Amino acid sequence: MGKAIGIDLGTTNSAAAIIEDKKPRFITWENGQKTIPSVFAIDSKGNRLIGEEAKRQAAQNAGATVAASKRLIGRNYGSNAMNKVKQVFTYELVEGESSEVLIKVKGQVFTLEQISAAILSRIKDRAEEQLDDEVDQAVITVPAYFNDRQRQAVRSAGKLAGLKVLRVLNEPTAAALAYGLGRTLNQRVAIYDLGGGTFDISIIDIKEKIFEVISTGGDTFLGGVDFDDRLMQHLLAHFHDETGIDLSYDRSAVARVRDAAEDAKIALSDVAETHVSIPEIATDEDGAVHDLTMTITRRELEQLTGDLVDRSIATCQRILQEANSTTADISEMLLVGGQSRMPLVREKIKNFIGRAPSEKVHPDEAVAIGASIMAHSLVSKGGVQDMTLLDVLPMAIGINKTDGTMHVLFAKNQPLPDYKTRSLTTSKDNQRSIMLRIYQGESQYVAENELLGTFVFSGLRQAPKGDVKVEVTFHIDSEGILNLTARDSTTGQLVESRLKLGGEGAGTGPNPPKRKKKKKGQDVKPPPMPLTMPATSITETADELDDDIDDEPPHTEEAAIPNLRQNLVKHDEAPKGLFAKLIAFFSGLFGKK
Ligand code: AMP
Repeated sequence: MGKAIGIDLGTTNSAAAIIEDKKPRFITWENGQKTIPSVFAIDSKGNRLIGEEAKRQAAQNAGATVAASKRLIGRNYGSNAMNKVKQVFTYELVEGESSEVLIKVKGQVFTLEQISAAILSRIKDRAEEQLDDEVDQAVITVPAYFNDRQRQAVRSAGKLAGLKVLRVLNEPTAAALAYGLGRTLNQRVAIYDLGGGTFDISIIDIKEKIFEVISTGGDTFLGGVDFDDRLMQHLLAHFHDETGIDLSYDRSAVARVRDAAEDAKIALSDVAETHVSIPEIATDEDGAVHDLTMTITRRELEQLTGDLVDRSIATCQRILQEANSTTADISEMLLVGGQSRMPLVREKIKNFIGRAPSEKVHPDEAVAIGASIMAHSLVSKGGVQDMTLLDVLPMAIGINKTDGTMHVLFAKNQPLPDYKTRSLTTSKDNQRSIMLRIYQGESQYVAENELLGTFVFSGLRQAPKGDVKVEVTFHIDSEGILNLTARDSTTGQLVESRLKLGGEGAGTGPNPPKRKKKKKGQDVKPPPMPLTMPATSITETADELDDDIDDEPPHTEEAAIPNLRQNLVKHDEAPKGLFAKLIAFFSGLFGKK
């Protein structure tokens, strides 16, 4: 086995670290930088560029440069979330066969997993170069507010990059691990994480070596790029006023203005006023060449973006309430993510919490350090910090009811891991299959939530309606990833369950091979099935499925199941032991005939 690193796979930048001699060591890049831009591009000669070299040529090659793609990972092309942001991207997005988002670059179509895998591979290669050893394992961080499909997609990306993904870890939790390193603590902390593309807030209790997340929430469409966007729109409007030229149709110009906006935004964290100057950005009808020049003050930036900061504070307020806490219960408010450096963020946090935020973690480094601590802990006996990590589900998971509302199986902030069983009953005579749609989100209406997958339980016994009961066990692991199995309650036989169309998101390629149809009478013993299976194994199309699928939400009955986490906390074991115990537990559960 090679070495294990921790990777902070960010929307704008990524970083990696490893624990050596009980201390984190960063994988470094050109000029000793600790981060690499999360950018992928193909140049005019067909070369694939990653990181700094991809970012450098972005303005000249905007249509073939993929930045901020983490915002698209694990999303349905037609989802509400996607419809809101499609027009913001300078590269071409296309819809995949399974309604996943694909990216077209110079005629080649890539899945989001492939783009992330390219960045992860670059990090793996660089780490191997610097550590002079094979690196084949990693803990990869994700926003706490990522849903099941997004988490599964990041796992797939890691695998495509040749990494064994030891764990997908929530970014705020990783930051808390970094904060706890070398400290003996007994406090409730809030981690405010405003990065390039996402915002997360988690309330975490740290009791010596136990890190217990109490509540979490966020916004996967709120981050530094939104601040850049506001300033960019302001610059474009100014240029339009001055020259009458609308630059918003020129991809290359937009990319240059976006870069200048980000530079100005970052500068305004340190100075009260800055000057934007983009030479020769456009030529008018008379052939006159125009520069874009403008002075921007911090005050103006704050006016343009203050509502974005307010949105994050409103989420903090809500998540604090969900933790049954007030600001007085929070010992420290830790700020992570590059955008949290903005003075207005610090000021508004200070007003909210009643004191200055903590300076005890580095906003750009804490997440990668936490991931490396976790990686080290998972691969070495009694790692640097032999801790227990208890996380929660960021958004409710449920199934649709006939009236379009969601029947919640697992509630938001529900401790992980956990499992539930539900009994589904046939509603027609001789019904051979039952369909179940699974959603994740905060709305009580399924249409406003993300469709995680559509499961079809097929090959049911022929029997009068109501006679066949399928007992489905849903289990969410400690990473928040949902798996399920189904069995006929009368015969005890496992029932074949297939994920059908639209809910996949974890594709390994744009045109995955079709799965062979099963021969009649072939024994079907499905293993517990990740909700977001790799596309190679979920390529059934609707017409291949039985005709008599019951598309109505099935009748469900609940079975009482003990809370797994209560047992975990009671036994107070290290994660490896706990995970091993859970695996043994589930193997026992699903091994039963
Ligand atoms: P991260 O994903 O944590 O690397 O955060 C990247 C985001 O932080 C980008 O949108 C950057 O523009 C932004 N950022 C980095 N440094 C600063 C700064 N000093 N002030 C404001 N935003 C910053």
